[in-house]
Amino acid sequence: MNILITNDDGIHAEGILALKNALESIGRVFVVAPDRPRSACGHSITLHKPLRAEPVKLADGSIGFASNGTPSDCVSLGLLGVIDEKIDVVVSGINRGPNLGWDLTYSGTVSAAMEGAISGLPSLAISIATYDLEVDYSVAGVIACKLVQMLANQNLPKGTLLNVNVPALPASEIKGVAVTRQGKREYINKLDKRTDPSGRSYYWFGGDAPVDTLTEGTDVKAVSEGWISVTPVHIDLTDYQTISLIESWGLQDIGLIDSGESLNDK
Ligand code: MN
Repeated sequence: MNILITNDDGIHAEGILALKNALESIGRVFVVAPDRPRSACGHSITLHKPLRAEPVKLADGSIGFASNGTPSDCVSLGLLGVIDEKIDVVVSGINRGPNLGWDLTYSGTVSAAMEGAISGLPSLAISIATYDLEVDYSVAGVIACKLVQMLANQNLPKGTLLNVNVPALPASEIKGVAVTRQGKREYINKLDKRTDPSGRSYYWFGGDAPVDTLTEGTDVKAVSEGWISVTPVHIDLTDYQTISLIESWGLQDIGLIDSGESLNDK
């Protein structure tokens, strides 16, 4: 099995090396990752400048490819030619910091797995729920291996990826694996306005820790209680329940011409 890995913490982050070491027990691992931290870049891709993918030596002595592109770029680069082998599975992580609830819309880690799913490959994103510098990635490594083996043997629907979050706890304190849905995690942003030495204003986004709504069955609740959370995530962002509500607004009859004449009257 050929596994392409990437991340958004940068190619020299400890988490991607831990992921590589773990996955090497079940397949051949190829690394294409950003040459610098790219957290919270979402699903951005690079269209306006040349992309590089330079071979670099990783801390274990192996060679990976460092790119000036985003995590999603790295997946595309890996699948479209930087790696000569045919890739079977895409894995993104192990991210330092959780990707829960509404984090997913900002996450470079999850977006990279999304790019894998768009390319038609089984894909997963994995994060550990701590920002500590000293992180034990062993439990996350074990669960990554198990899930990659399952992905290789099971049929995940097209366009679906797995988003995995592991509590930062020793294995003995983790309750197990919970299959969850995306919950609610809100950032109450504040804007800090400051003045630079030349008198011009500049801004920092800041704010308090995110506010989690701990609803039963959600990723945020599972991780807060010490479960490994596995959420199937689909690229289709449609809110199906709301389609009939929007239809009931009478959009079909909106007049786009000053007279108020309906387009449907023509
Ligand atoms: Mn990150």
